Amino acid sequence: MSEQYREPEPCYLPRSEINKFSKAVIKHFNYNPGDDLLPIVQALGGCIIYDDLWELKESDSGSVVIENPTEFRIILANHTSRLRDRFTICHELGHYFLHYLLSKERTPMRAARYGQSRAETEANWFAASFLMPEEEFRDYYNTVNGDLLLLSENFQVSQQAAAVMARHLGLP
Ligand SMILES: [Zn+2]
Repeated sequence: MSEQYREPEPCYLPRSEINKFSKAVIKHFNYNPGDDLLPIVQALGGCIIYDDLWELKESDSGSVVIENPTEFRIILANHTSRLRDRFTICHELGHYFLHYLLSKERTPMRAARYGQSRAETEANWFAASFLMPEEEFRDYYNTVNGDLLLLSENFQVSQQAAAVMARHLGLP
C-alpha cells in the first residue's frame, strides 16, 4: 500500500512565511484560539480516525493520508491526550497545506514520520503558529504573566507546547 503514496517534500518556506500562511487559514475559517478543529478538517474534506494499532510503529502520535485535495484522513493514536491530539491534527494539516496543496503535485501523499526532517519541522511550525498566533500569544502571555496553565487553557495546547512557544518568542 505504501508504494502508491508519495512522502511529503519540504516546501522550504521560511518560518515567517509559514506564519503568514497559517494566519490566512485562521482568517479564512474565522478560527479563534481554542476553537474546535474538527469543523475545519471537515470543511476541507478531511476526517479524523482514532486507531490504536495502525501507524504506531512509524509515528508516535499521528499521520495523514491524502487521496486528493478534498479527501484526506488524519489518523491519531488512541493513547494520546486531547491537547496533544490538537497539535497533531494541526501538524497533519500543515502537511496537507504546505506539502500537498502548495506543491501542486496531486498524486496521493502519506505523511507518517515524526522527527527532525525539514518537512516535519515545517508542519510543526504551521501547527504552532495556527494554535498560538504570535501576537495573541504575546498579549495573553503578558496578561497572565506567563502562567503556563492559563496559556494552555486559552489556546488549548499542552503546557509544554506553550512553553516551547514562549521560548521561541524570547518571552521571560
Ligand atoms: Zn509529520
